[in-house]
Amino acid sequence: MFLGHFATAYAAKKLAPRTSLGTLFAAAQLPDFVWPWLLLAGVEHVSIVPGDTAFTPLRFDSYPISHSLVTIAAMGAAFGAAHFWRKRRALDALVLALLPVGHWVLDFFSHRPDMPLWPGGPRLGLGLWNSVPATITIELLLFAASLGVALSATQSRDRFGRWGFAGLAAFLLVIYAANVTSPPPPSVDAIAWAGAIGSLVFLVLAVWVDRHRQPKADASPVSS
Ligand SMILES: [Zn+2]
Repeated sequence: MFLGHFATAYAAKKLAPRTSLGTLFAAAQLPDFVWPWLLLAGVEHVSIVPGDTAFTPLRFDSYPISHSLVTIAAMGAAFGAAHFWRKRRALDALVLALLPVGHWVLDFFSHRPDMPLWPGGPRLGLGLWNSVPATITIELLLFAASLGVALSATQSRDRFGRWGFAGLAAFLLVIYAANVTSPPPPSVDAIAWAGAIGSLVFLVLAVWVDRHRQPKADASPVSS
């Protein structure tokens, strides 16, 4: 899943409109933020096996820390608690704690049975990735619906808020299309660095776009 994870972050704007889209991106992507560094450290393992599932050439051999349900729930709880400690907004903190769990659930739907319940525990997965058309259809529908939700919860402060929002969504779609159509990555290091840098870029862009938007409830009648 790629767009699906961002979709949960966009949709969460409805429940936590005062929390930056960047923070919501970070929560929804938390497992994939941690994963590249654990790959580079040799703690977790992936192989490049074209055809492993129809959708991706990646075979996720072992990722007990970044992608087990129990460790993800713990990471989410820590993330939510840290946010609550700083901002004292209980619902927002709860949303931030649950977004990483939502990441696990989406990966559980898409991966073949390689998603551990806990480190060393049983591995589950429903294998949506065995069908390319089904994967793309579901991800695009989730993404489109979530953009609608985010737009209903926030409005732009200025033209950067409007065009930046559209530009970020378009950028995510372009990267998704590139991922789907490009040949298998050359090496595991290339996967890790692309993941580490890519998620950081999306995060920075989301923080920037969010600064130019505001919750609809906060809007004064004259602003647009
Ligand atoms: Zn993931």
